[in-house]
Amino acid sequence: MSQAILLDLDKTILDTIRFYDNYFDTVEQLYGKDKLAIFKQVCDETYSLQGTARLDLAIESIGGDINLVAKNLNNDYLFPDAKEFINNNQNLFILSMGEAKSQGLKMKVSGLDIPILLVTQHRKAKWIKENLLVGKKYLINGKKFDSIIFCDDREENFVGFDALTNAKGYIINRYNKKHNNLPINVSEIISLSEITE
Ligand SMILES: [Mg+2]
Repeated sequence: MSQAILLDLDKTILDTIRFYDNYFDTVEQLYGKDKLAIFKQVCDETYSLQGTARLDLAIESIGGDINLVAKNLNNDYLFPDAKEFINNNQNLFILSMGEAKSQGLKMKVSGLDIPILLVTQHRKAKWIKENLLVGKKYLINGKKFDSIIFCDDREENFVGFDALTNAKGYIINRYNKKHNNLPINVSEIISLSEITE
């Protein structure tokens, strides 16, 4: 039996809050407090844009250099349990919502070298069914798997997950959220170390 593991990026394996805090700190160190204030204002005004599209615009608005900022970010954004899990498991894939550049930057500065599958909306269970399930197998990046494990931090990503065969879901609860309607094949965990199957 071959098994693939699909992991969400933001707030599942990556400490996204720490990433953005560090991004703001780096902008301040490189360009000063006044420019950081403008940077944050542009970020707020462009909230509807995703990830680095926003950050790039904001950097541009203060005459900064996106590559210099990226170079000065630290590289320690993975949750400790995620680091361990990634080191101890195979057939891992990142299943992330967002744009390639933004998620690629976060992965690069975290030292992650895992294939990334991008979805466009928070309905990942549906996306898995429509894009990966072929008969009773899962076809991922040209490889066939008998079963999947899927871990994410957002309940809406598991809607319809129980329609998938040979699939086990884990919702990771790092910030004490309440989950009301989890499908029968989804368990709540607080650390990736609890993934056993
Ligand atoms: Mg997430």
